[in-house]
Amino acid sequence: MIPDWFQGGCLCGAVRYRARGRPLRTLVCHCRFCQKMTGSTGYAQSLFPVEAVAIEGSLQVYDHRSENSGKAVHLHFCPRCGTTVTLMFERWPEYRALSRGTFDDPNQVEIGSHIWTESAQSGVVLPADTDCFRGARAALDGTPLEPARYAGPTVARPSP
Ligand SMILES: [Zn+2]
Ligand SMILES: [Zn+2]
Repeated sequence: MIPDWFQGGCLCGAVRYRARGRPLRTLVCHCRFCQKMTGSTGYAQSLFPVEAVAIEGSLQVYDHRSENSGKAVHLHFCPRCGTTVTLMFERWPEYRALSRGTFDDPNQVEIGSHIWTESAQSGVVLPADTDCFRGARAALDGTPLEPARYAGPTVARPSP
């Protein structure tokens, strides 16, 4: 069941947030930027309209220029514990991504798609019956791209 509010915060608790309504989408990104940013295999995020999210506590911002689009991605992180709580995008100023791992209960929302699977790390398994995009969900001009859907769990990048 989707709650009225999502709540979450950073590792140390200095930054807390509330998000109203349900996210526009929740996805896992396997691009190299997300791998570097998290230090892990990918980044699970929920996209909300900017006005639906209220944040308490102060965040610092690191601006990263996307190699794909040339546009800036703004990483908002807790200056005390370093948790990346939220991203904002020069390309989509009306949206804010909340890091799914920072929700008090990450399982309140299901992952709807996986993107940039072509750069997924070895050992990553994509779930069945879920939209999987080799790159972005849409071309740079906004044209939606066609996802793959697998009948069973599928290794994103078979070991060489
Ligand atoms: Zn913190
Ligand atoms: Zn990414």
